[in-house]
Amino acid sequence: MFESLTQRRYLVPFKASRLPQQVTDVLVIGGGVAGLRAAIAAAEGGADVVILTKDSIDESNTWYAQGGIAAVLQPLDSVEAHIKDTEIVGVGLCDEEAVRITVEEGPKRVLELLQWGANFDKQKGNAYDLAYGLEGGHSYARILHAYGDATGKELAQTLIRKVRGSDQIRISENSFALDLVTDAGTCVGALAVIDGKETLIWAQKTILASGGAGQLYRESTNPKIATADGHAMAYRAGAKLQDMEMVQFHPTTLYVAGASRALITEAVRGEGAHLVDRNGFRFMFDYHKDGELAPRDVVSRAIVEQIRKTHFTHVFLDVRHLDNTKFRERFPQFQKLLEEFEINSAKDLIPVHPATHYMIGGVDADEMGRTSLNGLYAVGEASCSGLHGANRLASNSLLEGLTFGTRAGTHAAANLAEGDPKFPHHLEHKIEKSTKTELDVTDVKSSLRSVMWRNVGIERDGDRLTETREIIAFWSRYVMDKTFNSATLGPTAAVAGWELQNMLTVCFLVTTAAYTRTESRGAHYRLDYPDRLDDHWRLHLLWRRPMETPIPEPIES
Ligand SMILES: Cc1cc2nc3c(=O)[nH]c(=O)nc-3n(C[C@H](O)[C@H](O)[C@H](O)COP(=O)(O)OP(=O)(O)OC[C@H]3O[C@@H](n4cnc5c(N)ncnc54)[C@H](O)[C@@H]3O)c2cc1C
Repeated sequence: MFESLTQRRYLVPFKASRLPQQVTDVLVIGGGVAGLRAAIAAAEGGADVVILTKDSIDESNTWYAQGGIAAVLQPLDSVEAHIKDTEIVGVGLCDEEAVRITVEEGPKRVLELLQWGANFDKQKGNAYDLAYGLEGGHSYARILHAYGDATGKELAQTLIRKVRGSDQIRISENSFALDLVTDAGTCVGALAVIDGKETLIWAQKTILASGGAGQLYRESTNPKIATADGHAMAYRAGAKLQDMEMVQFHPTTLYVAGASRALITEAVRGEGAHLVDRNGFRFMFDYHKDGELAPRDVVSRAIVEQIRKTHFTHVFLDVRHLDNTKFRERFPQFQKLLEEFEINSAKDLIPVHPATHYMIGGVDADEMGRTSLNGLYAVGEASCSGLHGANRLASNSLLEGLTFGTRAGTHAAANLAEGDPKFPHHLEHKIEKSTKTELDVTDVKSSLRSVMWRNVGIERDGDRLTETREIIAFWSRYVMDKTFNSATLGPTAAVAGWELQNMLTVCFLVTTAAYTRTESRGAHYRLDYPDRLDDHWRLHLLWRRPMETPIPEPIES
């Protein structure tokens, strides 16, 4: 049924010897927190590094992260408490080692950022004179933030400064990685479009740090770049992927027609904002004893249900009862956003709606970020280290990017071959030219995102998942046979086509895994299987091309 997806190895035909070529020790695909930190570590280990970013370096999920980064730095907080909080939210699927590594090493990575000039918000008298916030699921105030709600930008800028200061690292922006190149079961670099030309980058080690998959869905907090390219590339190259059904939704994004779904951080509810429906009714206590501070997935489902009950398109955040001056000071970016739409938080209700937020599943990676494919590492949101299990604890992902990015970069640099490596310059790949019709790529993309939101979103059921699988199989037959060519179409149109092919591939993985897991756990909620079935389903779902369904694998503990 899915041969067009499972049989496809590369998106374009190529003959290596005819393409422009570059050689590096370590190739990093992605310039968010995970990729930047990996590049710094690899360079410190003596490697020459190339970083590719598909857009400018400031377009990443990292750049838009708001709430903060979790780290055990206060004397009364403890590593054990952070581990426990992470595992409770991950409901049985967390990898114990990945959790311990992140929580134990994270604080060191965060302090390093301070040394590199990161400007986290301050509060005298606390450990390191830093301000610590509390977020849902955390048992202690351990969330650092910068400029109120611009944490990701500060973190990214700090790392970018450090990267730009290294003469061993070269950043190649607006360079789209098409595919990982393999030879005899080893990843030997990637095929990318650089300066408008298909180019081969040979690398002894490749670190995939390509971020998330939010754009698979119509409603998403993620920027346009998050089209799951890395997940799809890894699948085509034969690396293992894990738990692709686990997609986290965020309960509150600004719902204004035509505007992007800007995230409204949990911390706003933490500061006392109410959720009300079109009738002004504060509904959350009908769904959970903790009201607005219930876990993310509970709040998202409650909003969907209340929208259904009230026959309306969205609900509202109400902050009118809070001290408006303090509120503006605490959330300056959010305040700026509201002003752009002439919403006055002192007087008006703020329209909100849930949206896709974070890809929990990803390329299966071990404690060093190594994947099942020799020569390939995966870190950050593109990876599945096992830290998040079935659901992600707020503010843990930036921390994961820092810790696993460092580990992967260090390991990659320490394991380079002596002398000049030999690369397979003879490689070539042929693809039959499509005889089928031309495509309206934009139309298929937006239809796919709508179907995914409707059928594979916050609430799922067997019938709608089956219907979605059939739609994906049908569309794939005429989308996947194309070879979008940057020389004839121009890079922009070609990239749009490749993104669609990647999105279809990953939609197939997410939908099929969601169909396979007949229980509800963490971020994955099945209306037809609403209970968590520990006896049967406390296991991971693993994919490897050309499998059409994932294989269950018991949890190691
Ligand atoms: C609005 C928002 C708020 C968030 N708030 C928080 C928070 O407060 N705390 C927290 O811990 N987490 C938060 N997150 C999640 C967190 O930001 C991300 O999980 C994390 O930043 C991911 O980092 P990354 O390095 O893996 O990927 P990203 O930061 O997304 O970087 C991906 C990189 O890969 C590149 N790339 C992708 N595809 C290709 C390709 N084909 N070719 C070349 N390059 C490619 C991109 O150009 C980009 O440079 C938030 C996310 C969003 C969207």
